[in-house]
Amino acid sequence: MIDVKKLDRELLSVEKPARYVGSELNSVVKDKEKTSVRFAFAFPDVYEVGMSHTGLHILYHMLNSIENVWCERVFAPWTDMEEVMRKNSIPLYGLESKDELKEFDFIGFTLQYEMSYTNILNMLDLGGIPLKSKDRTDNMPIVIAGGPCAYNPEPLHEIVDLFTVGEAEELLPELLGIYEKEKLNGFNKLKFLEKASQLEGIYVPQFYEEVYNEDNTIKERKVLNNNAKDIITKRIIKDMDKVYYPDKSILPYIDVVHDRVVLELFRGCTRGCRFCQAGMVYRPVREKKSDTLVNQAESMLNSTGHDEISLTSLSSGDYSCLPDLTLKLLDKYENDNVSISLPSLRLDSMTFDIIQRLQEVRKSGLTFAPEAGTQRMRDVINKNLTEEQILGPVETAFKLGWSTVKLYFMIGLPGETMEDVLGIKELSYKIKDKFFARPKEEIKGNLKINSSASCFVPKPFTPFQWTAQNSIEEFYDKAKMLQREIKDKKVSFSYHEPKLSYLEAVFARGDRRLSKVLISAWEKGCRFDGWYDMFDFDKWMEAFNETNVDPDFFAKRQREITEVLPWDFIDVGVSKKYLISEYEKSLEAMTTHDCRLGCTNCGVNHRLIGGACPHVQNNK
Ligand code: SF4
Repeated sequence: MIDVKKLDRELLSVEKPARYVGSELNSVVKDKEKTSVRFAFAFPDVYEVGMSHTGLHILYHMLNSIENVWCERVFAPWTDMEEVMRKNSIPLYGLESKDELKEFDFIGFTLQYEMSYTNILNMLDLGGIPLKSKDRTDNMPIVIAGGPCAYNPEPLHEIVDLFTVGEAEELLPELLGIYEKEKLNGFNKLKFLEKASQLEGIYVPQFYEEVYNEDNTIKERKVLNNNAKDIITKRIIKDMDKVYYPDKSILPYIDVVHDRVVLELFRGCTRGCRFCQAGMVYRPVREKKSDTLVNQAESMLNSTGHDEISLTSLSSGDYSCLPDLTLKLLDKYENDNVSISLPSLRLDSMTFDIIQRLQEVRKSGLTFAPEAGTQRMRDVINKNLTEEQILGPVETAFKLGWSTVKLYFMIGLPGETMEDVLGIKELSYKIKDKFFARPKEEIKGNLKINSSASCFVPKPFTPFQWTAQNSIEEFYDKAKMLQREIKDKKVSFSYHEPKLSYLEAVFARGDRRLSKVLISAWEKGCRFDGWYDMFDFDKWMEAFNETNVDPDFFAKRQREITEVLPWDFIDVGVSKKYLISEYEKSLEAMTTHDCRLGCTNCGVNHRLIGGACPHVQNNK
């Protein structure tokens, strides 16, 4: 255990000490003498961000529901705390036991965002754990990682011992079971990794080697260990009604990003937006029954006292029992002032009756994500959203009294012209016109349209995985043109930092050669790169220079369809053939319909679930 008295003293000098103390309601403290596997769930960002992540609450309680396993939390200490820890030799520790990281069997990182990778290195270092897998001996913790970025694990191949690919609720207990047996037999890391690699969804990078062509593209991947599989297939949960879901969540002492009961309606998405990695890798759609969700809401509300329920999933409005579920929840909780929010709503798929009822409890602004300003561009990305489908609901919303609208767009989409970029202004202005087109006596409130543009990042396992990203200069040109052009006081425009999106693209589609860049950038002091104030682009460029790696090769290069991609050895179910055909259709601005309306043969049914998609089947 770390010196807790010393820690308490030093905490007086840092911002938000509650980030580092633990002991919150519903956190789990076990007797460590009675547990045989200790797991540190490591979130590579600050406490407030990590505690707002649903996956953390699910896996934390799921692991702690296993009698002999104790799962604790560890977050990235903010820079002030890091300084205090380094100055006073306080190692990074688990929040529940205050034991240092070295004492754990597993340190499990969740990879939500490429720009949190340097925090992983920093956390290992603060825990006194060697950064590279090869330098960690049998008596040191096993470093594992999962989450959305694990679909291209290669940039972290030197650091992480094993990756979990896909949904972890069933996989983690299996993995920990193997570990426990190995521990009883005298633990040998290599033997454990060999056994673990037999499990579906486990990837052990040290069992493979990447071989390159002269032009730096990948020639082949060699399997170096007989126990390792050629292809790693993602894990999926087949029955969402039976999968573990906690009946409580930890209640922080300080404000966190989201402070509410979260219900996960379903996993997957049938829409087929061509830029969206989540929409491809989480297929097929698997829904929970509304009764399951009502029961989960009840136990979560009882154990937390929250007054908000958030209905989440990739596109909540597509949940087939949405009216039934929201009405059931409203009837039950409306009088207790519990509000219900639907954060990822496509307004074309939702009746305003429900929205209006939800808003009676608590009113919030409206959010639309047209993603692109022109119809041609929306067809290229397969958004399947016409201008009428945007303006119609906006008009209804204005009639019902809304006056604040947030619009999300992307710039730098494949095949984009300046006319498409200007379309962002045009559409924002058309929405403004709808507000003022009504008779004067009907106009209420002060209209505010907040349009924002993020810079497009091509991601693995999407139809755009082969496309070149815009250069940083092109992004700035487009964003600044919009800033110049949008002059109306009712419409504001903001954009995301292009340099950050560029680095995100480098790591999203990077290969093994990026591990050394990452280590070099961290050594130069890069931390919390996703936090704009902390981001130091020049340090990153120095790291690329010193390691002789060209970042443009990963971000700005158009790939041939035939090129071996760093993530080709992972099978997410959706076939490459399907991604290619979607990519080719995008070049012609041809759309593909939502596969709820008829299967479009993405391949996931045959490859992962051996038949028709569960959701499509249920709807028949
Ligand atoms: S197999 Fe068909 S129905 Fe299932 S996700 Fe793919 S396209 Fe949709």
